[in-house]
Amino acid sequence: MSAASDSGDRGKYNGKPVVLASTITCPNCGHRKEERMPTDACVHFYECEQCKSLLKPKAGDCCVFCSYGTVKCPPVQSGGACC
Ligand SMILES: [Zn+2]
Repeated sequence: MSAASDSGDRGKYNGKPVVLASTITCPNCGHRKEERMPTDACVHFYECEQCKSLLKPKAGDCCVFCSYGTVKCPPVQSGGACC
């Protein structure tokens, strides 16, 4: 039997359960937006929908979710190196 938790915020990466929903907080204006992370690619650039500034990963981070999101990207969650 499978749990009916098909809300779209959870998925699998490398066979491990990961959270796919991450809320990005814009460092410029503080605007928050929940985004769904892709499991097949990393997001290096993200445009804030409020102030239109282009967010880039901080030094040492692989993607904008690792730098500004509440949840890190799927590859990091599964314990692997980033994309
Ligand atoms: Zn912003």
